Amino acid sequence: MQPLQDLQGRKFPYLRLSVTDLCNFRCNYCLPDGCLDHHHSEALTIDEVRRLVTAFASVGVEKIRLTGGEPTLRQDFSDIVRTIKQIPGIKKLAMTTNGYKMDQRVTDWLDAGIDAINVSVDSLDPRAFELITGHNRLREILSGIQNAFDHGLPSIKVNAVAMKGINDDELDAFLDWIRDYPVSVRFMELMQTGNNLEFFQKHHFSGKKIQELLLERGWVRKVRLYDAGPAQEYCHSNYEGTIGLIMPYSKDFCNDCNRLRITSLGQLQLCLFAESGIDLRDLLQSDGQQEELLARIRDSLRLKEDGHFLDQGWTGGTQSISQVGG
Ligand code: SAM
Ligand code: SF4
Repeated sequence: MQPLQDLQGRKFPYLRLSVTDLCNFRCNYCLPDGCLDHHHSEALTIDEVRRLVTAFASVGVEKIRLTGGEPTLRQDFSDIVRTIKQIPGIKKLAMTTNGYKMDQRVTDWLDAGIDAINVSVDSLDPRAFELITGHNRLREILSGIQNAFDHGLPSIKVNAVAMKGINDDELDAFLDWIRDYPVSVRFMELMQTGNNLEFFQKHHFSGKKIQELLLERGWVRKVRLYDAGPAQEYCHSNYEGTIGLIMPYSKDFCNDCNRLRITSLGQLQLCLFAESGIDLRDLLQSDGQQEELLARIRDSLRLKEDGHFLDQGWTGGTQSISQVGG
């Protein structure tokens, strides 16, 4: 079948699927007051997930990332993984997690079929980590990462939101960590959302500054692969690990957009900062609805904008990234 394509000619091999909007952390940039409002009990069922992914796989989606909220709060998380792994056409199944109980659970996730893990670690300092996330769990999360390596995962990505006055002095700590450790640390620029304007204005830190420092120190930018994410990747011959920079405020950031998002309630989000989603759930109720579902997905893609308007302070309907699956 014809692969999905939008009016700008962008293709979509990559789907980010939120399996819950519930989270147990309260990251100061995402859910500073904790998760007050959520729809955990109404999230897509395994059958709905199977129908959704089957449809997307039939039109060229090859990679799925499970996210949230905190995806691992789903009791049936490993069953979701096993279900998606059996769908023809899906070549890679990744997840993004805050690392909660990862030290105990990661072997289950890998045995179920997870191929790649992104773990959010915004600071390597236990005190700063606790201030950011509300949890004194840095040690547990780092040991979860090690367990994943021990269980055969070849590489792990670590997401760190760069924040002025909070962790912008930790570049050296992260570089020291990856000198002999094959982790890809991805520094992400803090993004403005509906609920964090004041925080954003105080703590936004430009990824360009990190880029300059890396280049000064001999880091080299890698060539971007077809199914790569939005990160600019850098490597250095003295380091086992690599660095990625995700700079949504940079010019042309959206040109290579190759992903679509589904919220935990089954809404198609054409952009992280869309005004609203397109409901697909009514077409996930039986296996016989695939054609109708695909027609709605194709129609919706015509509405995908050239880019977000974050640089103009436009955050669409997104109050917190946890709502739409980061
Ligand atoms: N709970 C999981 C986690 O934290 O990894 C998955 C969901 S979380 C919304 C996905 C990613 O979005 C995390 O790496 C988080 O740091 C990032 N994120 C959340 N809010 C953000 C913001 N305002 N700006 C930049 N990144 C953000
Ligand atoms: Fe939860 Fe992830 Fe948001 Fe932190 S970034 S509050 S772990 S959803």
